[in-house]
Amino acid sequence: MTIKKKSSQLPFKKIGISLLIIASLVLLYPLVRPRPQLRRVPYSFFLLQVKAGKVESVGVSENLIVFQLKPEGNSKQGVVLSTPPIEDLELPERLEKQGVKVQFIYTPPPKNKWLGTLLSWIVPSLIVVGGFQYLRNRENSQDKQSLAFGKSKAKVYIEGQSEKITFADVAGVEEAKVELQEIVEFLKNPDRFTQIGARIPKGVLLVGPPGTGKTLLAKAVAGEAGVSFFSISASEFVELFVGTGAARVRDLFEQAKQKAPCIIFIDELDAIGKSRNSGATSGSNDEREQTLNQLLTEMDGFGVGDATVIVLAATNRPEALDAALLRPGRFDRQVLVDRPDFDGRLKILEVYARKVKLGEDINLKEIATQTSGFAGADLANLVNEAALLAARERRTTVSQRDFKEAIERVIIGLERKSRVLSEKEKKIVAYHEVGHALVGALMPGGTKVAKISIVPRGSGALGYMLAMPEEDRFLLDEADLRDKIATLLGGRAAEAIIFGKVTTGASDDLQRATNLAERMVTSYGMSRVLGPLAYDRAPTNNFLGNEGGNLRRALSEKTAEAIDVEVKEIVERAYEQALEILKVNRELLEEIAQQLMKTEVIEGEALQTYLARTRSVSQ
Ligand code: ADP
Ligand code: ZN
Repeated sequence: MTIKKKSSQLPFKKIGISLLIIASLVLLYPLVRPRPQLRRVPYSFFLLQVKAGKVESVGVSENLIVFQLKPEGNSKQGVVLSTPPIEDLELPERLEKQGVKVQFIYTPPPKNKWLGTLLSWIVPSLIVVGGFQYLRNRENSQDKQSLAFGKSKAKVYIEGQSEKITFADVAGVEEAKVELQEIVEFLKNPDRFTQIGARIPKGVLLVGPPGTGKTLLAKAVAGEAGVSFFSISASEFVELFVGTGAARVRDLFEQAKQKAPCIIFIDELDAIGKSRNSGATSGSNDEREQTLNQLLTEMDGFGVGDATVIVLAATNRPEALDAALLRPGRFDRQVLVDRPDFDGRLKILEVYARKVKLGEDINLKEIATQTSGFAGADLANLVNEAALLAARERRTTVSQRDFKEAIERVIIGLERKSRVLSEKEKKIVAYHEVGHALVGALMPGGTKVAKISIVPRGSGALGYMLAMPEEDRFLLDEADLRDKIATLLGGRAAEAIIFGKVTTGASDDLQRATNLAERMVTSYGMSRVLGPLAYDRAPTNNFLGNEGGNLRRALSEKTAEAIDVEVKEIVERAYEQALEILKVNRELLEEIAQQLMKTEVIEGEALQTYLARTRSVSQ
């Protein structure tokens, strides 16, 4: 017994000291770190309390004075209050007179006189102690940083360690899943492919607007294949010091190879992969280029027989990427991950709705209808917002009303980023796109349409039609071009017929139609009036290095006028044709547009069946 007692004396002392430190920290905490929820009182009230000798202690910072009153009545602790610091040179003296403890001064150097007075007046020991503490912390964190220096900051999700994500967690992007399924097969069973001599893809580019689930898909591929997942954002490569980006890339691949088969996911690839032709050269560009080169080297480095490392990368702007990235053996596959259409949104909503308690009045279809233009992340956010609203009112289930309100909130947040169509806009866009499709279907040389959509795109297009891939044609005759122009004007023609007025939505179409008509006249010699002359100069490199494509031969005023007249006539004739076609097919136009408003996308056989019903004008 006695021995035990003796040996425990030292630890007791230690514990005592620690307790003392902890206790003083706890006591000081409210003063050092003034919490915003402290009741704020006017300065005059504070002064009154000081004068009345009711203040026990004061803590001062540059923008807040926190003070604790002496305990009153039975309470053991006095109330802590805060007040704005007012320039008051007499305060230090007053505090001293009343014997108030001034416990701490918050760091930032004093900007005004009275704080300076206070500073010099107070025993600076606390500051010294605090300063030491601060320096030590800083040293520590610097230590850690320099250790991590060069090391890649990739977050690693090793299979089985974190929550496994599979394709079931990603909804509404069926096509992308089908394409990525193959990658899963590669990862699961590389031998099966290499035995035949097939080259396993190294890089896959996921292309689409933010929040559409690209990261989620990449994780799901790893999850489905049961392999490790390394993720890093390309913007993290290029920061801090020159040269670290390349080192980080090397490091990342080093780590990944050890865990192979695995997936490396690089988000925001354009941060390092921007085309080298674009932009001026500067220090940061050098850094980016080095990093990019390292990435290319690493990707070229692993070949047949090597460990299976597949790099998935995400970007919103594939057109801005350096061509070197897209060469065979690098990111030679692209998978489009677009904003979901009605069905897709419904599926995503179903995924997230499972996680909250829904009321009986919930109609997910209605919600999907009202959220055209939302990406997956927006929908996830929407469900959460709705649940929060319900919780705030202490209800146990989420109601349709909550969703209505949440949609409005999310839309307000989204409006800055992308477009969300109102019902009215949706209707106009639907008729517009169907107009294109119908005219294109009826004109022999018109653009054949494979898909029409009124899901807004990130690029600013409200709706769009996807042209059918045509057999490669290098020669178009005059009639073909006229038909193409008519197709371009079909959108505007539909708006004019149905709504009796046109909107700004057709400006891009008009631009393209006019350009085409102008080329017919000035480059292709297709105008009888102007004859087979090239009025524009062949695009040559002039001394500035610019393409001289827009240069015109010196024209007489008369010729210039004649060109304008001809161009105008071609466009107007085509427009008349488009109008006529749509008038004849008005019922069909109505029918398809109504359907499009419901489903937001019409494509494939369904679309072709509709288009087969068009009646040509002469009949
Ligand atoms: P991206 O990488 O395309 O910017 P993320 O994959 O980071 O988008 O998506 C952010 C979040 O939004 C995901 O974690 C997920 O919760 C949700 N989300 C986005 N798209 C989908 C989808 N298609 N299905 C289910 N959830 C999605
Ligand atoms: Zn259009």
